[in-house]
Amino acid sequence: MAALCLSSARRWGAAVTRSRGTRGGVTATHDEYDLLVIGGGSGGLACAKEAAKLGKVVAVFDYVDPSPRGTKWGIGGTCVNVGCIPKKLMHQAALLGGALKDAPRYGWNIPHPAQHDWSTMAQAVQNYVKSLNWGHRVQLKDKKVTYFNMKASFLDENTVRGLTKAGKEAVVTARNIVIATGGRPKYPTHIPGAVENGITSDDLFWLKSSPGKTLVVGGSYVSLECAGFLSGIGLDTTAMVRSIPLRGFDQQMAALVTDYMASYGTRFLWKCTPSGVEKLQNDKLRVTWKNTHSGKEEMDVFDTVMWAVGRAPETKHLNLEKVGVRINSDTGKIIVDASEATSVPHIFAIGDITEGRPELTPTAIAAGKLLALRLFDNATELMDYDNVPTTVFTPLEYGCVGMSEEAAAERYGEDAIEVFHAFYKPLEFTVAERDAAQCYIKMICLREKDQRLLGLHFTGPNAGEVIQGFALGMKCGATYPQLMRTVGIHPTSAEEVTKLHITKRSGLDPTVTGC
Ligand code: FAD
Ligand code: NDP
Repeated sequence: MAALCLSSARRWGAAVTRSRGTRGGVTATHDEYDLLVIGGGSGGLACAKEAAKLGKVVAVFDYVDPSPRGTKWGIGGTCVNVGCIPKKLMHQAALLGGALKDAPRYGWNIPHPAQHDWSTMAQAVQNYVKSLNWGHRVQLKDKKVTYFNMKASFLDENTVRGLTKAGKEAVVTARNIVIATGGRPKYPTHIPGAVENGITSDDLFWLKSSPGKTLVVGGSYVSLECAGFLSGIGLDTTAMVRSIPLRGFDQQMAALVTDYMASYGTRFLWKCTPSGVEKLQNDKLRVTWKNTHSGKEEMDVFDTVMWAVGRAPETKHLNLEKVGVRINSDTGKIIVDASEATSVPHIFAIGDITEGRPELTPTAIAAGKLLALRLFDNATELMDYDNVPTTVFTPLEYGCVGMSEEAAAERYGEDAIEVFHAFYKPLEFTVAERDAAQCYIKMICLREKDQRLLGLHFTGPNAGEVIQGFALGMKCGATYPQLMRTVGIHPTSAEEVTKLHITKRSGLDPTVTGC
């Protein structure tokens, strides 16, 4: 194995300091960095850049193990390469397809049916992602952060070893180490043919040609979003859900999301669990599954099977046992306290790798920045994980902040909460004669005293844009009377939130009529 002297392993900038001899033929240094970050994704890069801004000597290790299909990508982590960014762009491609269908009613002459070309979309999305990879590298260079494109593991509490694909090695030490290695999609390895014949979201966004008739297995964010945009660009798409959709979300809202998808072309196999994927001679995939409702074995043939059955934290290769960083043995995630500290005081963890935190980019970024400020700028502010807003980018988007109706009822009791709701019709749906049966808003608040808001849920166009501003209100402790004093912006869907006045308890028809 070739040993790399640090200065030659270093791609970008910072000077080597405090070098102290060798370790097994490898140049080793101690306390060389103020901060070493393992994982160049949303959280890790945010933390590294913030620390560098404060004048600290910082290094980042980032390395992508190719997927079982061989897909790989550059720096930036899940969100940039195989998550939020390509997903939202492909969702946009699907929304444009919907707009094309609406367009004739608004006077446009559009050839029918409009054809979608996967490779044009994929190429454009992939080029954009590559530009983001480049942008991250330039930013690291500008900020004099040392970037190692190497897979890292701990040698001891202050020492990390990096390994390139070709077996080159670097050993570096740091006073503070942040683990931000995120997660990767799981495969149901117990299902014959699952790994050999299936793909995951790690592959989908990098496919050069259309996945064709696709089965997406899973009932959560990744599954529904991917099934949603595949249907939206005109592919024959099936989602197989073994239990409930969007576990953890308000279940009334989750049902609206899947009802809309079903009415716009996604086929759902409810209460079904896959049992095998076999490749046929014509390269098609025969999938068998058990319908737990009917007890029957069923099958169909697909071009692509995509597993969206959850994500596994990337802790296996880090050698955490050796340094005493505690993980939850059930989930494999790293246990941290409110300051993101692990069981080893100068080793921290942020983002998807941590136990009990939301798996979202903005929380990883905010946690990373705040951690750097606490470490290097005498700051004391902790990341507040309460009332984190989120949006599921399904064909009918679902945005929410705060508690689900179920969670609020469980926490406060049904009598102590009030649920205001409305079925509304987005203006853009009217001329297009789109069905708005699933466009719904629900707000949960305390019934007594100040009627503080507990949760807000919205299905409809631009749900993320709608919820973002109200999330500020929730953060500031907004109450129902304050919401009622908020003037709406007309004509928008968001203004319907400021007009919510019908309670579920009243049993009155919550359909909005007129302006
Ligand atoms: P990551 O971004 O995963 O970065 C970890 C990095 O560490 C990776 O580059 C990895 O290769 C590297 N690494 C791992 N092990 C090592 C090692 N030993 N040595 C060196 N490097 C290593 N969130 C949203 O907020 N909005 C969305 O719309 C959204 N959409 C998503 C869609 C999909 C399909 C998926 C899968 C996720 C989505 N997410 C979304 C979630 C979001 O992508 C993650 O929460 C976020 O990327 C987590 O950031 P992180 O820094 O914890 O880890
Ligand atoms: P989740 O862990 O949230 O969901 C996994 C899904 O797979 C569940 O529906 C689960 O069903 C199902 N499942 C698990 N095992 C099997 C199996 N063997 N056979 C069939 N179905 C199975 O994972 P996701 O990958 O969807 O999402 C991970 C995280 O990524 C999310 O929590 C979210 O924070 C983040 N994300 C955010 C997005 C956004 O902000 N828009 C978009 C995408 C991801 P069951 O419920 O029965 O266990």
